[in-house]
Amino acid sequence: MTAQTIDGKAMAAELRAELRSDVAKYIQQQGLTPEVVVVRVGGDTASGVYSKAILRAAENVGLAARLEQLPTRTSAGELQELLQQLNASGQTRGVIVQMPLPGHLSQQMVADTVVAEKDIDGISPRSAGNLFLGLPSFLPATAAAVMEILERTHTPLDGKRAIVISRSNVVGKPLAMMLLQKHATVTVCHSRTNDLAALTRQADILVAAAGRAHMVTGEMVKPGATVIDVGINENPNGSGGIVGDVDFASVQQVAGAITPVPGGVGPLTNLLLLKQCMQGAWEAAAVAIS
Ligand code: NAP
Repeated sequence: MTAQTIDGKAMAAELRAELRSDVAKYIQQQGLTPEVVVVRVGGDTASGVYSKAILRAAENVGLAARLEQLPTRTSAGELQELLQQLNASGQTRGVIVQMPLPGHLSQQMVADTVVAEKDIDGISPRSAGNLFLGLPSFLPATAAAVMEILERTHTPLDGKRAIVISRSNVVGKPLAMMLLQKHATVTVCHSRTNDLAALTRQADILVAAAGRAHMVTGEMVKPGATVIDVGINENPNGSGGIVGDVDFASVQQVAGAITPVPGGVGPLTNLLLLKQCMQGAWEAAAVAIS
């Protein structure tokens, strides 16, 4: 059996087209272009690349997009003031603060300051709390991208066994909650899990997000399972490029469906931020009318 390769790029193209028409409809009805603002304080090359990718993706679907680049010496008060201005703006619908912040600035302050209605990356305690309670909430984009793939591939979740390799705040924990909401039976694994393979072999849906190149091999996978590879790792053979957490060649022989790296989860992640931005924009417009 050779698994079906899930084409994340094609799915992203589909979602991009849906977003373009949603943004156009919003602009026509509301007379205002929703704006995404990326806030970056100092910052390394990786966060610069990531910021540009978000802004480009936003402009590409017709959203307004702006980078607020602040110097490393920015004080907590100055950052908070900017975030409060963005909270109050009628046009800004999504605020993403790039991590890591310089050491003197607290991630907690950012999470507490950005209002939940504009926290399109779902990082605030309020967003996380809402997700935990099953209330409407913005979701961390990577976890949301995994759910988007499962939905678009019509993967059955109700009553199925899902194993998530990660308990991180951005992937594993939120994803476990989302899968639970869809009535999967969820097991969360991490670096202290005993006999990981015995658990992964039970999974109808296996999500690997450990950040360990090729750690999931064919003998760890249940025949016919859907395997979603979130990992982005340097190719350990030194030939350059990126590889996932899944050993694609061996898992492909066993699984029913599998996401490749690159070209699986990655292309969808930023688009999920924008999808949530538009959801927030429509909700705000509905509140303004009522
Ligand atoms: P992280 O915070 O380091 O979390 C990794 C998780 O995996 C932790 O819960 C860790 O367990 C667990 N883990 C590590 N080694 C393990 C092992 N050998 N066996 C079982 N569990 C293990 O990483 P992250 O920020 O969530 O990112 C995870 C991966 O996803 C990275 O490769 C990252 O580049 C990638 N990523 C991809 C996207 C995308 O768009 N595709 C977006 C974000 C991240 P402990 O909690 O016990 O340490």
